[in-house]
Amino acid sequence: MRAEMRDSLISLLDAAGPSGYEAAAATVWRQIAGEFADRIWGDIQGNSFAEIGAGGAPTVMLAGHVDEIGLMVHHVDDDGFIWVQGVGGWDPQVLVGQRVEVLTDAGPITGVVGRRAIHLIRRDDGEKAVKLKDLWIDIGASSGDEARAKVGIGDVAVIRSETLDLANDCLASRSIDNRVGAAVVLEALRLAKEAGCSAHVIAVATVQEEIGYMAGGGARTGAYGLDPQVGIVVDVTHATDHPTLDRKEHGDVRMGAGPVLARGAAINPVVYRRLHEAAKREGIDVQIQALPAMTGTDADAVRMSRAGVASGLVSVPNRYMHTPNQIVNLEDVERSARIIAGFLTQLEADAGFLPL
Ligand SMILES: [Zn+2]
Repeated sequence: MRAEMRDSLISLLDAAGPSGYEAAAATVWRQIAGEFADRIWGDIQGNSFAEIGAGGAPTVMLAGHVDEIGLMVHHVDDDGFIWVQGVGGWDPQVLVGQRVEVLTDAGPITGVVGRRAIHLIRRDDGEKAVKLKDLWIDIGASSGDEARAKVGIGDVAVIRSETLDLANDCLASRSIDNRVGAAVVLEALRLAKEAGCSAHVIAVATVQEEIGYMAGGGARTGAYGLDPQVGIVVDVTHATDHPTLDRKEHGDVRMGAGPVLARGAAINPVVYRRLHEAAKREGIDVQIQALPAMTGTDADAVRMSRAGVASGLVSVPNRYMHTPNQIVNLEDVERSARIIAGFLTQLEADAGFLPL
């Protein structure tokens, strides 16, 4: 991976941005975009846009959600312990014993996720999965008043962590889902500009994907505002190359084996075919993922915008999604950007995307 892209990716990964509170991560994204995009702006939801080729055709939206899952303070008890709700989908087991940062108006406050010690858990309870309502954040406060002076209801928290280098070009971070997508759409935009692409392309760091569910978070209004003919969404997908997963049930997706192109009802067949051809031209191996119905990504919102948008989905294989140490392979990340840039540079102004 290009050294500058690696640095950009790591600064994106280490910025905090739970859904609805994406400002820090979005600010980093806009700074990176500022180095090459023709124009950068934001919208009322908090989406960030970076544009090249205004006046060109067709208009293409590249979307990578910049939000991550987090925790939200909803009660501070009289002993100073902080009770939280999930922002997005947590497995509470992975929160036990973690260090966190509560993002307050006055800056981050450090804390730890408390749980009864093993010696104090009844034997028959020890087998049970822990629930979020049984966990709390301990900031070391000695009273409710002290904690309430520091932390407000509605403040959010993230796992306190830094990106970690692993062997074979792998990185671990709590925010892989989906800062890698936000980084890929920017790199694709940069490469497309460098290659002299004639399309009008807007990369978008969308917000609130993790809490958007069927409504689609910022991608929905972002797509409405841009009114693109084509949408390409970049997100992570589950790598199934680790123990305890059955490929007959979950498919065969491997880290380091290339970006994943989705096929299915939500995916426009022409966009899929052109992405596949772009990969071939670039000499990049891809993996194919079957998605019979919804994709569970921003692609569901983008494709249903207005009268419909021809949409594709490029996914980066990811182990341990929604845990504090999600892993990706950097080659997969960079190749995702190259495929999309290859798609963009071959796009004719009158390219058609009707399925028949
Ligand atoms: Zn997610």
